Formats: sequence, C-alpha cells, structure tokens
Amino acid sequence: MPASLIDGKAIGAAVRAEIKERTGEFTARTGVRPCLAAVLVGEDPASRVYVRNKGKACVEAGMLSRQVDLPPSTSEKELLDLVARLNADASVHGILVQLPLPKHIDESKVIEAIAPSKDVDGFHPVNAGRLLIGQPGFVACTPLGILKILDHEKVVLKGAHAVVVGRSNIVGKPVAILLLSRHATVTICHSRTRDLPDVVRSGDVVVAAVGKAEMVRGSWIKPGAVVVDVGINRLPDGKLVGDVAFDEARAVAGKITPVPGGVGPMTIAMLLHNTLEAAIRIASAG
Ligand code: NDP
Repeated sequence: MPASLIDGKAIGAAVRAEIKERTGEFTARTGVRPCLAAVLVGEDPASRVYVRNKGKACVEAGMLSRQVDLPPSTSEKELLDLVARLNADASVHGILVQLPLPKHIDESKVIEAIAPSKDVDGFHPVNAGRLLIGQPGFVACTPLGILKILDHEKVVLKGAHAVVVGRSNIVGKPVAILLLSRHATVTICHSRTRDLPDVVRSGDVVVAAVGKAEMVRGSWIKPGAVVVDVGINRLPDGKLVGDVAFDEARAVAGKITPVPGGVGPMTIAMLLHNTLEAAIRIASAG
C-alpha cells in the first residue's frame, strides 16, 4: 500500500486559522496588533516573492505588515542602523531580514544585530542556543513546522530513530534538536556521511534537507517510515521536486510529505506563530 500523503497545505491552513483567531483575541484584549517588519535588500525575484507572501499572510491573520525595501547598494552599516531602529520601535514585534543578503554584507552580523526578543526567524545565536539547552525562545520556522506536521500526524517520536539528512543552521541542526527534545534517537547526516543509504534505511522518521533533487531514493527508505521532504528544487523543465524521489519513496514509506504542498506551507504558518508569540511576550513583559 503506498504511503499516505501528509497534507502540509491543509495543516498550514489550520494553523493559520487558529493564529488568526488568537491574534483577534490578543488585539481585542490589549489593543495591540502584532507587527512583522520584513526587510528586503536587493532585487532577487525569489526573495521578493517570499517577502510579499509573508506580508500577505500577516495581513490575512489580522497582523500588521511593514516591508522595508532597500537597494542592492545598501551598506552593511545602513542595514545595521535600520535593524537598530526596528529593535527600538515598540510598534514592531517581529523583525525578519530576508536572506540571502548581497555579498558585501555580513549576514551573521545582521542576524546578531536583531533583538533576540524580535527574532521571529529564530536565527539569532541566543535563540539557537536556547533551543539547544531547552529554554524557551524562538525556533526557526521550517523546523518548527516540521515538528507541527509530525505532531499533527501523531507520529511517535519517543524512542524512534530519526535520521536528518542535512546539517544547516536553518533546517538540519534545529530540526535534529527538536526531535531530540521529543526523545527521538537522532542521527544527523551530511555530505561526508559514509554509507548514507544504509543510515537512512535505519530511520523510522527521515527528514531530508539537502537541496539535491530526488537524492534520497525509495530503496533507502525503511518500509513504513515517515518521510519529511524539506527540499525545494526546480528541474530544468520547470517542475518543482523535493530531495526525495517521491514516487519511489511513496511506494515504501508509511507517510510522506509531497513537494510542493508539504513542508513549504508550514514555514509561513510558523512565522505567524512566532510573530504572535513575540507580541504576546513583549506585551506581558512591559
Ligand atoms: P544547505 O545547502 O544550507 O544545507 C544542505 C545540507 O545538505 C548540508 O548540511 C550538506 O552537507 C548536506 N548535503 C549536501 N549534499 C549532500 C550529499 N550528497 N549527501 C548528504 N548530505 C548532503 O541547505 P538548507 O538546509 O538551507 O536547505 C535544504 C533544502 O531545503 C533546500 O532544497 C532548500 O531549498 C529547502 N528549504 C525549504 C524550506 C521550506 O520552507 N520548505 C525552507 C528552507 C530550506 P555539508 O554540511 O557537509 O555541506
């Protein structure tokens, strides 16, 4: 029997509807509308679409969206000054600087300049560190969305072997820590992992975040495993595929996320979650 499909679009829509309701209640109670400031430097068309979609999602959830567009020639200092102004602006609750930034700007400097309390992307070292030691903070949106999907599907993580392929700071590492916090036994794989197919084959849960079209084959999947495909890759013919060979893996897995319509829609939903959370924390602190 082929794997059942995990409908990230429907799960994401349900999360967004719930956040919209909670945002309405929060605003009615406090008079505050959560506000996300999104900063876009340069003219990368994909980044422009991402930022626009994030802004639209905020408005749909009853939040305010502020978009700051800066030219590609913006200096690092100008961007850092803008971040400092947004940090100090009490009407802004979440700050997002769309990556990648132009080459002359040091991304890590910019991320570290964002106040951890407004870092709704969860990329600041303080928030990454809090995740590592199990303290409350902001968790990066894609990993958080993956956990939400697994919870929605009632996947048993306690004692399960979770194999994460990819060790980036924005997906692989944080998702591994989240799975560990749920008592999974976690293996993190990367480009130097030996016998990768064998390691993946031992996973009850497999998270693929590699950025290589259809690299994880069906023969690598343990029968009945839960497969979460984070990858977004465009083939020369324009087709969008994940990091997992979907048809092959679906024939073996128990549950699987499609691409598109799996993890992707969860990322924006969790950004809204983090923005509402930021507004709630700021309101209760002050
Ligand atoms: P990165 O390029 O930052 O990281 C890729 C990871 O995969 C690295 O750790 C790398 O290993 C590992 N890797 C590369 N080649 C191999 C290989 N042959 N075997 C084993 N491991 C390998 O990518 P991201 O984590 O940023 O993104 C991963 C994918 O997820 C991309 O397709 C991206 O587009 C997508 N994505 C989707 C999101 C969504 O909302 N759905 C959000 C973010 C990303 P090493 O460290 O050794 O180099």
